[in-house]
Amino acid sequence: MPVLVMKFGGTSVATLDRIKRAAKRVGLEVAKGYDVIVIVSAMSGKTNELVGWVNETSPLYDAREYDAVVSSGENVTAGLMALTLQEMGVPARSWQGWQVPVKTTDAHANARIEEIPPENITAKFGEGMKVAVVAGFQGISPEGRITTLGRGGSDTTAVAFAAAFEAERCDIYTDVDGVYTTDPRISSKARKLHKISFEEMLELASLGAKVLQTRSVELAMRYKVKLRVLSSFEEPSDEAGTLVCDEEESMENRPVSGIAYSRDEAKMTLISVADRPGIAAAIFGPLSDAGVNVDMIIQNISEEGRTDMTFSCPTDQVLRAQKALNEAKANGDINFHDLVADTDVCKVSAVGIGMRSQSGVAAKMFKTLSDEGINIKVIATSEIKISVLIDRKYLELAVQSLHDAFELEKAT
Ligand code: ASP
Ligand code: MG
Repeated sequence: MPVLVMKFGGTSVATLDRIKRAAKRVGLEVAKGYDVIVIVSAMSGKTNELVGWVNETSPLYDAREYDAVVSSGENVTAGLMALTLQEMGVPARSWQGWQVPVKTTDAHANARIEEIPPENITAKFGEGMKVAVVAGFQGISPEGRITTLGRGGSDTTAVAFAAAFEAERCDIYTDVDGVYTTDPRISSKARKLHKISFEEMLELASLGAKVLQTRSVELAMRYKVKLRVLSSFEEPSDEAGTLVCDEEESMENRPVSGIAYSRDEAKMTLISVADRPGIAAAIFGPLSDAGVNVDMIIQNISEEGRTDMTFSCPTDQVLRAQKALNEAKANGDINFHDLVADTDVCKVSAVGIGMRSQSGVAAKMFKTLSDEGINIKVIATSEIKISVLIDRKYLELAVQSLHDAFELEKAT
């Protein structure tokens, strides 16, 4: 029998009624002849509540016990989903991560899936089970302790199962009906895309579009899992949602597929550092040791052996970055006149695989922003992305005008 993976996020299993509604969708696929693996999240809000309980009990908690507590939300929904399916006459049973087993690393609270041996579940399908309901987000470490995969991790569970069982497709049911050209709350002209390439989705996910956990997209790309994002609140149809797949020619025709943004960025400038071999390592080494996620970097021209170095990082890491750099200065590892933090900036990015073959995308982006009187503070590019740092007060204007300039209201 062909296997289908269906993942239901927290809002899709938030109440017993919604679990019933999701179970009906599962029943439709079983009727089509699929063996179905259902991956469930915890009921919406549950994981946050569990994390809160852990923090309240033990602020410097033992991560193994954090995982023991925080993984439990998914156990509840897995059992309830199996019961609901049984009530509908569909042969189903629940599986916790360790029962499959979902083998992970021992990086508690942020573990990676290493292997999912398919034998146990396949054997049950052979005995007539039609649906395996698996608790998402959790696994078991080499020492036999329960692990979790990081927030949003059940997306990754779903893709990993689709790869391990060579599923025909992995359907991610969520509270939005697909992937949009930009955030519909910012531009009313945002359009749902019917298809998007893995690479574009990976950029969008890491740039702040929260539909899918970034790691799940990486996995899907590596194992060529056909991934579909759709809403459990819409009527089922073959046209529903967005398909994340290998790139196709048609996708290259549009220079830009989406405008992403991240609101809380900071621009940090080290004024007048010595321009000598090893200086970048001396600056970014301590930042990385301090856990600062540096994104864009520019080194300005050098005059009389000194230069300014600018980088961006999330606003909530500014204090950590300042501490690390001031310590490096006190140790004599680096030397600068001043460290200037601009915490009122945001990042706006245009993403599209068409950029590889079409020229003029960057020029059009910069012209659009300048026509709106928006000053660009930092620019960074990759093969399929152009990001700019601008004043935060222009975020909405920039997103809307770029969406218009690249005619994304016509995207399909
Ligand atoms: N329940 C977990 C979380 O809220 C995992 C998930 O839903 O993907 O992060
Ligand atoms: Mg999610």
